[in-house]
Amino acid sequence: MSRPPANRAGHWPSAATSVVGVMGDPVTQSLSPLLHNTAFADLGLDWVSVGFPVGAGQAPAALAGVRALGIAGLSVTMPHKSAVAGLVDELTPTAARLGAVNCVAREKGLLVGDNTDGQGLVASLRRGAGFDPAGRRCLVAGAGGAARAVVAALADAGASEVVVVNRTAHRAAEAASLAGGVGRVGDPAEAATADLVVNATPVGMAGAATERARPLVDPGLLSAGQLAVDLVYHPLRTAWLAAAAARGAATMGGLGMLVHQAASQLARWTGREAPVEAMWRAALAAVGRGGDVGGRPPGEAPGT
Ligand code: NAP
Repeated sequence: MSRPPANRAGHWPSAATSVVGVMGDPVTQSLSPLLHNTAFADLGLDWVSVGFPVGAGQAPAALAGVRALGIAGLSVTMPHKSAVAGLVDELTPTAARLGAVNCVAREKGLLVGDNTDGQGLVASLRRGAGFDPAGRRCLVAGAGGAARAVVAALADAGASEVVVVNRTAHRAAEAASLAGGVGRVGDPAEAATADLVVNATPVGMAGAATERARPLVDPGLLSAGQLAVDLVYHPLRTAWLAAAAARGAATMGGLGMLVHQAASQLARWTGREAPVEAMWRAALAAVGRGGDVGGRPPGEAPGT
């Protein structure tokens, strides 16, 4: 990876380098530093991203450290997204609605909490799959943090309907309410008639206890003319996506969402547009090309 140009100190990193990091537990597996350092290098910015291992319950101390040390920004991951929402000075409307923060930016001396997961998914739909949610019928499987962000973002993007299916009923209702008038709880069988079907559960995730669990939506319900998206990106192409593709559905994995949510974070911190193509290439190299990615690079024009 190329390095930012020498700063005033003539070397990098230096005492003048702006520091951001990803805070979570575990954190060493996070791709955020790779994505952000790739972007900083591409833009020639004197910034660096590192990992901050912060255990459960330690978010207040970590945020105090961010304030005291002049850390320029944070990516926030498990288990801190909810806790950090209660610790920043301001929340964006999206973060307030979700009650969860995945990005902290220092703006005019205040710590502002944002949530870029949903806009990451919508950006990857538009740029990676040529799919605009406006006026489309969407079904989201899952009601956790990622699903909630996706449900809200699809509604904001103009979806005509956002149906939520989940193992635990009351969580489905809570998630569906984030889509306002177009949200409702539904049945997995409704996937057969949706334009977009999103798996927002960890079913199929390599190494997870749920890797071989039964998916909420039977891929046998899907067919040509539909888009199936799995938020899981390891493997790049889950068994559920492969089965959906075999049925003729278009498919896209979760790596584009990961890249775009990170791109939005970088834009918030630096005021610069993120180089999503470079970030995509770095992410792809890191996760490994374990078969078809299920989706085009985020910036590539949709083909046939
Ligand atoms: P979470 O908050 O723990 O929520 C997990 C959801 O999955 C819950 O709705 C849960 O249902 C459901 N679930 C878990 N195991 C299940 C099973 N065996 N069968 C059916 N449903 C099951 O997790 P999250 O943060 O939302 O993350 C979900 C997935 O999205 C993970 O794989 C994560 O890696 C991925 N993700 C990807 C990106 C990206 O950028 N691509 C971003 C964020 C997350 P209950 O409510 O019934 O427990």
